[in-house]
Amino acid sequence: MKFVRQLKPKLSDDAEVIVFYQDKLLINNKNQTFIHPCKEFNLFFDINDLIAIALKDNKTLCTVDIAENLFLDLDDYDFVDLRMILGSLDQESFSLIGRSKMINYWRRNSKYCGACGKKTDFISSEEAFQCSCNNEFIYPKISPCIITLIHRGDEILLGRSKHFPKGMFSTLAGFIEPGESCEEALVREVKEEVGINVKNIKYFSSQNWPFPSQLMIGYFAEYDSGEIILEDEEIEEAYWFNLNKLPSIPPEGSISGLLIRSYIEDHS
Ligand SMILES: [Zn+2]
Repeated sequence: MKFVRQLKPKLSDDAEVIVFYQDKLLINNKNQTFIHPCKEFNLFFDINDLIAIALKDNKTLCTVDIAENLFLDLDDYDFVDLRMILGSLDQESFSLIGRSKMINYWRRNSKYCGACGKKTDFISSEEAFQCSCNNEFIYPKISPCIITLIHRGDEILLGRSKHFPKGMFSTLAGFIEPGESCEEALVREVKEEVGINVKNIKYFSSQNWPFPSQLMIGYFAEYDSGEIILEDEEIEEAYWFNLNKLPSIPPEGSISGLLIRSYIEDHS
């Protein structure tokens, strides 16, 4: 698979599309798929609104963000909340859906120049928008965030954000500030969110997170000192949990879920 960004792509008959409506994803319940043949849907959106995001098995894969839901009367089709299905997706599906959502977000937010307010042009050779005022290219913007599992032997520290489903606890996360390294951001975020100090920061892996356009960079961090003090309004509750007595945690498909499961595996 090769990633591309093409506005108004030339499409052959076998082109496929991933459809969003108000940030929800179109699913064909009968075939259990989120990738649909473009030609079936010609009447449901303007073909000029499609943006090609990848070449997959020699087919062009596009995405579109529709303004009006004309799929309502179609049996077998539903728009679903991404957060509800991300946990059950394989890696490639996760990547493609995340990419689609982030590319749509980029296009929506790049129509006008942030410096002078004029309409931007899409420059095919760069696959990016550009304004004549400063000639800077506007590429898809990705915000880097750290996410970390804090451990203390058989215990891990998990927190509850007010946005989480009831009873669910997760690893801590936060945006990296301009001028910070990932490790500096981690130490600062943990201190700000739960008031403790960490050491022995070890990289785990990373994952795109399309809410709206993040790259989550995952680490393990060992407890060093301090007691849990909640000051950040983002976190409602945070506790040390014994590995044998964990609350509800994020699904395996998310990097938070992977960090926790990986730690459990290494300590049982
Ligand atoms: Zn401008």
